[in-house]
Amino acid sequence: MKKTVHLLSVPFRKIKEELSEEQVALLQKELSAEKMKRVCIICHDRERNVLLYPCRHMIMCVECTMAVQESFQNCPLCRNEILNTLQVYT
Ligand SMILES: [Zn+2]
Ligand SMILES: [Zn+2]
Repeated sequence: MKKTVHLLSVPFRKIKEELSEEQVALLQKELSAEKMKRVCIICHDRERNVLLYPCRHMIMCVECTMAVQESFQNCPLCRNEILNTLQVYT
């Protein structure tokens, strides 16, 4: 699987040289908030990587999507029927 490339891959020392301590703290907070937004809403563990059709919500990981499809077959967020899924790689 391809490794996710995100802001954290920027050398931290370089950031520190250019930003104040408060700015670095704020940046770290934003990064963890951003990470939380990408976590599957069902298991809160794995990264969400499945796009649902037709509602186009990307809210779940592959494992949870399969579990949802086996049970009630609707998007847990908007309750629209899941007609198709697309696994995305980040
Ligand atoms: Zn999940
Ligand atoms: Zn939806």
